[in-house]
Amino acid sequence: MGEVCCAGEPDAECQRQRRLASELSLQFRIPHSAFRTPIRMKFPDRLPIPAEVLRIARTLEEAGYETWCVGGAIRDNLLGVENHDFDLTTAAPPEEVRRLFKRTVPVGIEHGTVAVLDRDNRAHEVTTFRRDIRTDGRHAVVEFGVSLTDDLARRDFTINAIAYHPIRHEWRDPFKGAEDLAKKLIRSVGDANWRFQEDYLRILRALRFSARFEFRIHGATLEAAKANAQGLSQLSAERVREEWFKGIRTAGRVSKLLALWIDVGAARIWLPEIPGNGKGERGKVDKLPRDPVLVTAYLASDPASLLTRLKSSNKDIERARAIGQWREHYPDPRHLPDVRKWLSQVGEYGDDLLLLLAGLDLSRFPFPLSRLPKVVESIRAAQDPLTLKDLAVTGDDLIAAGVRPGPEVGETLARLLAEVLEDPTHNTRERLLARV
Ligand code: ATP
Ligand code: MG
Repeated sequence: MGEVCCAGEPDAECQRQRRLASELSLQFRIPHSAFRTPIRMKFPDRLPIPAEVLRIARTLEEAGYETWCVGGAIRDNLLGVENHDFDLTTAAPPEEVRRLFKRTVPVGIEHGTVAVLDRDNRAHEVTTFRRDIRTDGRHAVVEFGVSLTDDLARRDFTINAIAYHPIRHEWRDPFKGAEDLAKKLIRSVGDANWRFQEDYLRILRALRFSARFEFRIHGATLEAAKANAQGLSQLSAERVREEWFKGIRTAGRVSKLLALWIDVGAARIWLPEIPGNGKGERGKVDKLPRDPVLVTAYLASDPASLLTRLKSSNKDIERARAIGQWREHYPDPRHLPDVRKWLSQVGEYGDDLLLLLAGLDLSRFPFPLSRLPKVVESIRAAQDPLTLKDLAVTGDDLIAAGVRPGPEVGETLARLLAEVLEDPTHNTRERLLARV
């Protein structure tokens, strides 16, 4: 993240501007009664733009290309939420952007996006003013050489379609995004049906922003989201997974995000392993840490199948599978050998299963499961042997002691480990060799 600073300004001035910007942004937190009264928005005079972003904007402007800050960082800063990740939108065609800066990466060149690397190797996205001329619900063919207003018009929601000129300190908000920020509303730019049909991912983005900011989705936008939910099946699994995971990480409450996915019909299509009602034990999802794989595994009846549909990595699928397999098989914490055996079997997934406890109704277990984390801690502190590697003998030792090379070696090691899990004091060379 870039240091927020107003390039060229002394520190004190920079700080004053930051304070000013955050005080002014308070004006956007308008009380509920504002829903009934017309809202007049006043933008802050200035936004604190990171020095490197400002430098890029200056270079483009000095070359004669109009350049504005747009997108999530503008929205977040107006809300008083920290975000230094300012995207730039410019009249400069992509090849000009590449020519003007020494170090660039063509991250999405066909859509006009070039990443400009700053002195610290941080990437800043610069996108040429564009308009979508044709889409199939997943991809867009874009046209450059259009105006800032055209560019704002192709953005998804009014709150994401506000532009700020970092040098002239002007604002452009043709779709009244600031008003919707104040009203806490997610509203499509233009006709919601049409906009969702252009790119169905926008439906999921609406749900994510709604859950993140605790904003209502505007009536017509919500209706259109529901009416077009079937189109979500056309999206690639990777884009859906990214949205779902990002939603879990950023939601005010995950239960709210899930309720939206269910209500709109997105869960039915992409998360059918998650039961339709979030009641009962699953209502405790908000108590879990914001780890998308853990949360998804917790919610799903068959976590591995869900993450396979979302084309997750094998590592994540295996993790989810282990959580699904072990969540009904916790050990009785009063019985140390059982806990050691459990730790030995669940291996690297032990910590996930301990984290999962926060979301479970512990009263349904016939033993005091809440004590498990402390017991595990004590076993780990004592460095009790839990795996074959921890045994005081190796396969070679067993062969030297007369065990026939082959499967018998593994079987014997497993038997010795079982004994050691029962009683760790048995883990000495003499004792184990005597048991061969
Ligand atoms: P965040 O980064 O917190 O997810 P964001 O609004 O910055 O939020 P990005 O995906 O970084 O989201 O996109 C930057 C901007 O690009 C958005 O604010 C929006 O103006 C536009 N945008 C992104 N995705 C779409 C889309 N699918 N349809 C239309 N506009 C989009
Ligand atoms: Mg962003």
